[in-house]
Amino acid sequence: MKKRINSWTVLLMTLLLTGMAWSAELPASYTVQKGDTLNQISRKFGIALAELKKLNNLSSDVVKIGQVLLLSRQTNQTLALEGVKIFYPNTIKMGDAFSLRIWGKGADTVQIRFPSETAEDVRQPAEKLDSLEVGDGSFVVLGRVVLGAVSSEVRFTATLNGNTLEGRIPMTRTARSQVELLNVPSSVIDGVTPATQTRENGALEAAYALRTPKAWNTPFMAPIKSFVTNPFGGARRYQMGGKVNYHFGTDLKAALGEAIYATNAGKVVIADFYQTRGGLVGIDHGGGVVSLYFHQSKIVVKVGDTVEKGQKIGEVGSTGYSTAPHLHWEMRIRGEGVDPWQWAGKQIP
Ligand SMILES: [Zn+2]
Repeated sequence: MKKRINSWTVLLMTLLLTGMAWSAELPASYTVQKGDTLNQISRKFGIALAELKKLNNLSSDVVKIGQVLLLSRQTNQTLALEGVKIFYPNTIKMGDAFSLRIWGKGADTVQIRFPSETAEDVRQPAEKLDSLEVGDGSFVVLGRVVLGAVSSEVRFTATLNGNTLEGRIPMTRTARSQVELLNVPSSVIDGVTPATQTRENGALEAAYALRTPKAWNTPFMAPIKSFVTNPFGGARRYQMGGKVNYHFGTDLKAALGEAIYATNAGKVVIADFYQTRGGLVGIDHGGGVVSLYFHQSKIVVKVGDTVEKGQKIGEVGSTGYSTAPHLHWEMRIRGEGVDPWQWAGKQIP
């Protein structure tokens, strides 16, 4: 009986999480209703209990009806530089996409760098970054925390008219996840030759190096309406004793042949079949943001195509390193994988 209740709980949790993941943007706050517990609220919005308590400076789990709880940790610290204000998160964690929001006169000319990236295994660390216009009068610079990050904080510098200030965002430690053993058959691994890997990685690195103008002006959407079967960020080995890799995307349950849709406007920069990733489409959204869709059975766009949000780009398959039909969806900022669900329903994470 106990076991049965547990599986129902799991199913309910899955439905709640699925509902959340697919729904529009997470509200900024929630007002406690009669009968709510902090634990229920944490599950309802998919925020860890500890994080919810930290966000709201709660020392216990007791909440009162009518109490307003913050659900988002965005724009909680500020830096003032000349006539400009920069809002940035209180805390971040590995695999997070985050944004520095810049308001005020000269906001469009502020230059940002992340010097702490030089300590991490990231592509183009501490790059000089221009801000992106988001349409509400503010400008944004996207940040990323690489999986496997070793630092305890992200440091950024903001420069305007020759004046530079530094901001620091502490990284919260997440429990180290167990390393999953995938046991990909040797026949598959041995089929991957240096030549095929060079071709595949070359295509990806070229996409990651793009810094085209921002092409999207509406919130991102999930590429299929489904639920997560394997979340972003897990550590895994392909074979016993092999090196640890991270899951840079999120796996969505899907049937063979199901349509895959572009998560937002952009330009197709990869549309081909590869050994590891199988049928792969990559869309450059500009501003260093690329979305990727793996293991497709069919691709219906070609390199150079301009796509709109919601446009069909291909069909679900099980090509490449895959054991059953599913969609592996990635979002990358300047080449580094960040949690794709941070984008669904949002223009900027
Ligand atoms: Zn995957």
